[in-house]
Amino acid sequence: MTAPEPSAVRTVNAYAAQSASTPLAPHPITRRAVGPHDIQIDILYSGVCHSDVHQARSEWGPSIYPLVPGHEIVGRVTAVGEAVGKFKVGDLAGVGCLVDSCQHCDACAEGDEQYCENGATPTYNGRERESREPTYGGYSTEIVVKESFAVRVPENLDLKAVAPLLCAGITMYSPLRHWKIGSDHKVAVVGLGGLGHMGIKLARALGADVTVFTTSQGKAADALALGAHQVVISSDQAAMKAVRNSYDFILSTVPSAHDLAPYLKTLRRDGQLVIVGALEPVGVNGMQLVSHRRSVAGSNIGGIAETQEMLDFCGEHGIVADVEMIEMQDINTAYERMLKNDVKYRFVIDMASLKNQ
Ligand code: NAP
Ligand code: ZN
Repeated sequence: MTAPEPSAVRTVNAYAAQSASTPLAPHPITRRAVGPHDIQIDILYSGVCHSDVHQARSEWGPSIYPLVPGHEIVGRVTAVGEAVGKFKVGDLAGVGCLVDSCQHCDACAEGDEQYCENGATPTYNGRERESREPTYGGYSTEIVVKESFAVRVPENLDLKAVAPLLCAGITMYSPLRHWKIGSDHKVAVVGLGGLGHMGIKLARALGADVTVFTTSQGKAADALALGAHQVVISSDQAAMKAVRNSYDFILSTVPSAHDLAPYLKTLRRDGQLVIVGALEPVGVNGMQLVSHRRSVAGSNIGGIAETQEMLDFCGEHGIVADVEMIEMQDINTAYERMLKNDVKYRFVIDMASLKNQ
């Protein structure tokens, strides 16, 4: 049998959850034909984000099943549409959490596609804007995406360790840039997982003094090796008290509902605590805000231009994720390990394992 033309609709290997309670398993999917503005990417590596677990298990409202997770995608371009200018066949390309947005609201006009007022199209667990077909993510061998939602990948970085930059990296970079964090600032990162370890590297590269709050005593040495200046075990009340009123900026990557109070107390006057992890309601003690003009904010991934800026920044500074490579077939074990805080510090799927199955 001859391989289908690159421009044709293709059936490709993927892994999907069929419901909130079933493990991921092989599930072939269809990729659309390459349109004039599309590129087709042979996926080489796909990072495993905690958001994949939340959505595979319908923890953020009803997910669309079958659900093919994965929004930390890197690979090589294998076909380009006739109107494509940014990529040619053979180029490296990355795809993060978004594959489309309305392109005309204020947020899109300002490069904040992730806050599209008409709803951005997520890489998976969403629907294509025109066809309303479900979107399927990076736990697959190929993807077809609008070139304007793909980013260029610096050639000087270790490709498998670049994949996590597409979500974990940009989710940390965007708030650090938005709040203009630099060498005058003391930053704390809460949670040393996929996002947290990128938060350390990026805040450090921006010149900040960096502390990590961790629940895992065993990660303290790693935190310092990753670039943190200080580590605080969050269950150690004396250590927490010793850092009260210390930080200008805290990035909280804790993945579930938790008490903000112990962290808020460590913010200095005018400090911000930015939540990127827990999407559940959070209770805030007004006194802790009012007494030091502190604020609590949230942040969602980053826009496409900002994602490109982040990748270029990582290329210049030689920043990549610390990764543990897995095969596609190991994904359910990887999820369980992630839920036990046992990941150093991002699982990345070698997509060759899915191509050869
Ligand atoms: P991860 O690799 O599992 O890391 C989370 C870390 O948080 C854990 O390693 C652990 O670090 C700490 N932690 C876990 N449970 C905790 C608890 N109950 N209290 C305090 N600390 C706890 O997850 P991730 O991929 O970095 O993602 C983190 C969260 O961000 C997830 O909820 C994910 O969905 C979300 N996310 C948001 C965005 C966005 O744009 N806003 C983007 C991507 C991901 P220690 O062992 O050091 O304590
Ligand atoms: Zn993610």
